[in-house]
Amino acid sequence: MPDNPMRIIRARTHNLKSITLEIPKHQIVAFTGVSGSGKSSLLFNTIAAESQRQLAETYSTFVRNRLPHLGQPDADRLDNLPASIVVNQHQLGGNARSTVGTVTEIYALLRLLFSRIGQPHIGESSLFSFNNPNGMCPDCQGLGNIMTIDEQALFDRERSLDQGAILFPGFEPSSWRWKRYALSGFFDTTKPLSAYSDEEWTRLTIETGTPVTAPRPGWPKTTVYEGVLPRIRRSFIEREDGDLSKVEREALARITTHQPCPSCQGGRLNASVLSCQINGLNIAQCAAMEAKDLLHFIDTINEPTVRPVIIAIAEKLDSMIDIGLDYLSLDRGTAGLSGGESQRIKMIRHLGSSLTGIAYIFDEPSIGLHQRDVQHLGELLIRLRDKGNSILLVEHDPDVIAIADHVIDMGPKAGQAGGEVVYQGDMAGLKQADTATGRGLRMPRALNETPRTPSGWLKIHQASRFNIHDLSTAIPLGVMTVVAGVAGSGKSTLTNQILPHQHPDVVVIDQTELRGSRRSTPASYLGLLDDMRRHFAKHSGQPKSLFSTNAAGACPTCQGHGTVRTDLAFLDTIEAECESCHGSGYSAQARAIKIAGYSMDQVMGMRALEALAVFKENPRLSDGLLRLEQVGLAYLPIGQRLPTLSGGERQRLKLAAELGQQGKIYVFDEPTSGLHMTDVERLIHTFNGLVDQGISLIIIEHNLALIAAADYVIEMGPGAGKHGGQVIYQGPPADMPTAPHSVTGPYLNAYLG
Ligand code: ADP
Ligand code: ADP
Ligand code: ZN
Ligand code: ZN
Repeated sequence: MPDNPMRIIRARTHNLKSITLEIPKHQIVAFTGVSGSGKSSLLFNTIAAESQRQLAETYSTFVRNRLPHLGQPDADRLDNLPASIVVNQHQLGGNARSTVGTVTEIYALLRLLFSRIGQPHIGESSLFSFNNPNGMCPDCQGLGNIMTIDEQALFDRERSLDQGAILFPGFEPSSWRWKRYALSGFFDTTKPLSAYSDEEWTRLTIETGTPVTAPRPGWPKTTVYEGVLPRIRRSFIEREDGDLSKVEREALARITTHQPCPSCQGGRLNASVLSCQINGLNIAQCAAMEAKDLLHFIDTINEPTVRPVIIAIAEKLDSMIDIGLDYLSLDRGTAGLSGGESQRIKMIRHLGSSLTGIAYIFDEPSIGLHQRDVQHLGELLIRLRDKGNSILLVEHDPDVIAIADHVIDMGPKAGQAGGEVVYQGDMAGLKQADTATGRGLRMPRALNETPRTPSGWLKIHQASRFNIHDLSTAIPLGVMTVVAGVAGSGKSTLTNQILPHQHPDVVVIDQTELRGSRRSTPASYLGLLDDMRRHFAKHSGQPKSLFSTNAAGACPTCQGHGTVRTDLAFLDTIEAECESCHGSGYSAQARAIKIAGYSMDQVMGMRALEALAVFKENPRLSDGLLRLEQVGLAYLPIGQRLPTLSGGERQRLKLAAELGQQGKIYVFDEPTSGLHMTDVERLIHTFNGLVDQGISLIIIEHNLALIAAADYVIEMGPGAGKHGGQVIYQGPPADMPTAPHSVTGPYLNAYLG
């Protein structure tokens, strides 16, 4: 019975309140509700998790044992689930050989085209692959660029070897790598490198092969000497990226620069492959064109024999353009794409698929999209549905929710106060509903009529980067500035690349992972945990270590982890909450000690405001907890593990850690992502409070409520890629709707109604 609705019976994952519901198939179903209401817990952690677990059950034990462990979601039953594909914002992998062209499979079609009609005819399509040894450029191994080590950055020539002249982790004085040089007998280890003779310098940096007699008992009699540069190449650069630690990767990025390969000029292929052309262009030149230009070029090819290939390429390029990725070229590496761009690239792959009866699950597909492109996004989702698939998505943008056939609104609030379905039905009904989303849709919409006066200006002088050429402009200080513009217009190039380069006091606060271990929490990230332990120790007369799950306070059953893993032979590892400490990781002794009525593990389960009541007479702790409140994280349990935070929550936590420094300038990239309309109102309030304290904010944003609330708007455009890169509007939001060149103005006007 393929068309029966999906049935979820008594789901309890995370905060879900044992909910039972039916979800129609072959429709676009939007999941709405405030952040933390349980949308992801239902969609990703229950429905998608169970669907993928059921699929995994059909594999052999051999395959299953090699899959990541898939636990059973906490629900009584899930029926009629289709196979599901999750299209999320996770990056497409950092492999240097993965490009927009390879992951969308457009490049494979181009190879086919060149192998059929390219002049001169050089061979089969696999030759046009930069991953094929017979096709790749021999000098860069098909990477298109060559990595060189910057000696200025690697060595401090004012220092001697003893003083740590080699600035790379693992080469510190007295480390074993350092000893290879210091004890080789070749160098005076007290002499600064600047005083080395040419011969000594060459020997230290690049010379290889000279035998060294054992300088130390216990070493092999002779070893082969290897200069620092080849050593770093061998041990770090030529190793798989995934094998390096974060510190090593960052150090490597600091001492290396990439230059286009002189042999292939970045084309990644050897000379014979690059000599093969269609209408005057080789395959690398095609891959370097923006999607829109490539489509025009493909349309000029008039060869009946390759008609089906041309049509397939054009269809995929059309999808890229429709979805607002017209500015990307096929040779763009996937590692540098934003989360929204990555999600849209994955979508292209699925649009071309002939599978039906699949549930496609999206996480805020409108992220990073300008209102102009939201309509196209809707058309693509409808196409995917009409192929016989079910589309399930988490979404906050009213224009995307409006295209849904069916809405499931979660609430009423966040965390334990959420986890229920508060409305289910169509959009018209949602607009009338007495829920946070219903109220949000009816909220009055107003412009900031009294923008603040800037206290100064950040000047940008003749800046050039990517699609921005020779731009001179100024960004106001002491106000809330929003940088708007279509995707690919140059917003992040301006704020994340050019601005910090010209003004080092600009701090970019992004949504990437937070430093710290898997055990880290908001309390530890803000440096509050240690003060909390000290507070407990002081008031209880017990040692501080008793209040640490890494030390004396650890639960003996789970060693402080809060979970217990059981390895069963022939079965999967089972991870379950520790029964002794109820998941807190604290020992019974630690849990028995209460200050102001609460134990340490209870405090870790509190939200910032509740914890504030416990620590109110401790100024350092109350200051830190208030910062969480200031950035709109008052609802977050201070002991929640960092890996479970959303991108927006991570970003605001980073801001909380930064606060308290006067006169700073902060750049935010789409801080409203993941936020419900009512949460956006709260964020605007938070931002205004920060600006009132003297902080300058520069915010990349598509959200019209935030644009309307800004003091100043800078719009990049008019288009994307080479059609963008200019400032097309600059001024208060009130003048935007009538500004002649603004692309966003008409959408702001429509939003204000
Ligand atoms: P939404 O998607 O609506 O923003 P979530 O489903 O992510 O909400 O979160 C619902 C609740 O579940 C929140 O209180 C959140 O803190 C909690 N939660 C989310 N992930 C986890 C997790 N891995 N472990 C425990 N609680 C979680
Ligand atoms: P926005 O932030 O407005 O979406 P971006 O600043 O990301 O736009 O992009 C502006 C232009 O710069 C686009 O043509 C984009 O393809 C190009 N670009 C951005 N990042 C890179 C990069 N790492 N390498 C090459 N081109 C890039
Ligand atoms: Zn090359
Ligand atoms: Zn335990």
